[in-house]
Amino acid sequence: MADHPDSVLSELGFRYDPSDLYQQVIGEVLAASRLLDTPRHLRLLMAQPKNELIVHFPVRLDDGSYRLYKGYRVQHNNILGPYKGGTRFHPAVSLEHVKALAVLMTMKCSLVRLPLGGAKGGVQVSPKELSVNEMMRLTRRFTAALGGNIGPDHDIPAPDVGTNAQIMAWMADTYINFEPSRFRWLGQAVVTGKPIEFGGSHGRDKATGQGLVFVLDELLPELHLAMDQVSFSVIGYGNVGSWTARLLGQRGARLKAVMDHSGAIRADSGIDPDRLATHVRNRGSVAGYDEADGISEKDFYQTQVDLFIPAAMEQMIDLNKAKMIDCKVLVEGANAPTTPPGERMLIDRGVDVLPAVLCNSGGVTVSYFEWKQNRQAETWSADRVDDGLRTAMSAAAHRVKSSARRHQCSLRRAAYCAAIDNIDRVYRTRGIFP
Ligand code: GLU
Repeated sequence: MADHPDSVLSELGFRYDPSDLYQQVIGEVLAASRLLDTPRHLRLLMAQPKNELIVHFPVRLDDGSYRLYKGYRVQHNNILGPYKGGTRFHPAVSLEHVKALAVLMTMKCSLVRLPLGGAKGGVQVSPKELSVNEMMRLTRRFTAALGGNIGPDHDIPAPDVGTNAQIMAWMADTYINFEPSRFRWLGQAVVTGKPIEFGGSHGRDKATGQGLVFVLDELLPELHLAMDQVSFSVIGYGNVGSWTARLLGQRGARLKAVMDHSGAIRADSGIDPDRLATHVRNRGSVAGYDEADGISEKDFYQTQVDLFIPAAMEQMIDLNKAKMIDCKVLVEGANAPTTPPGERMLIDRGVDVLPAVLCNSGGVTVSYFEWKQNRQAETWSADRVDDGLRTAMSAAAHRVKSSARRHQCSLRRAAYCAAIDNIDRVYRTRGIFP
């Protein structure tokens, strides 16, 4: 592989690999930095995480045997505040992936103007293969292995793909048990996305989907679309996909097609998002849902919709998928679901692409509200959380729109510009230590 053509990445020793998610994400960060003319030392800082931690730890399985697991925590940047970002349990978790996702967290927090930095973590594991007790032991050992590398003032994990409120409860409980007793009450602020009865926040479960809907409230009118008249399709029916579908359904939008790891379904007259959510909760996937027709993956992509919402994994919308998709607007619910060639193809075909850094930042925004409630020993009402989220999402959407006008660029680049400009100002004010 050749040296990287970007001088910042070649200085850092990167070999050019356009299919690498980390290089794709950093490529966008550097392109936005060039547009802003940020100093070279800031570009170098952004192109490499501050800390990359890899831990190996054993877990006792129910049959008495032991398995060794690999876990990660990458802390990208903390100039704005403590590191913040999810914990993923998935077989495809790798250092490069976690690094890319950590950069995206820095961008999201800065775009929404949260006083938080960016991080991400995960364990290479297939959660479906573990029992509840094995999952609990794995979570607790992982948390213990992270030790002082996480903390309410330092780095605050949250749920992501393959993790949920229960796992956050085990993480917080484990962390608290290692804390000196006088700080224990604050210990629960070490993670967000916890169950309501243990320091969780109202509205956190639906937050990413709700944030996406609030962003659409701001952007759809300019695209000459009305929320109560649009049709949409979704990839992934986990937390983000199902909440987005249900909340859009409540606003009168029609869910036409859904695809997940088990296959794809379609009903032109509309799929009931709540009933499908119940089916997926009971059966684990959309397969076997009898109020829609099973369709091929190709038919799914070619289904004509107003909004196409990838809400599953990264890099799903590559060039070939982008050629097939028949939509007016692609709304990124997942992190980095569209590859750069995929995005170029969509834009060439006249599709508006609403970037994840804006569209899925509702999750971390309500995480911030949860952290704040924990630290102030408060419980906010569901309405207060919703109002705060609406205000934050609408301000972020306006920031992206005015950045796109100022820099005459795509919404993705505009979102990165708005995020990096904020970070640049803080570095200029604080200076580089010593
Ligand atoms: N995992 C979510 C994300 O990718 C949430 C992170 C958080 O709440 O800290 O944005």
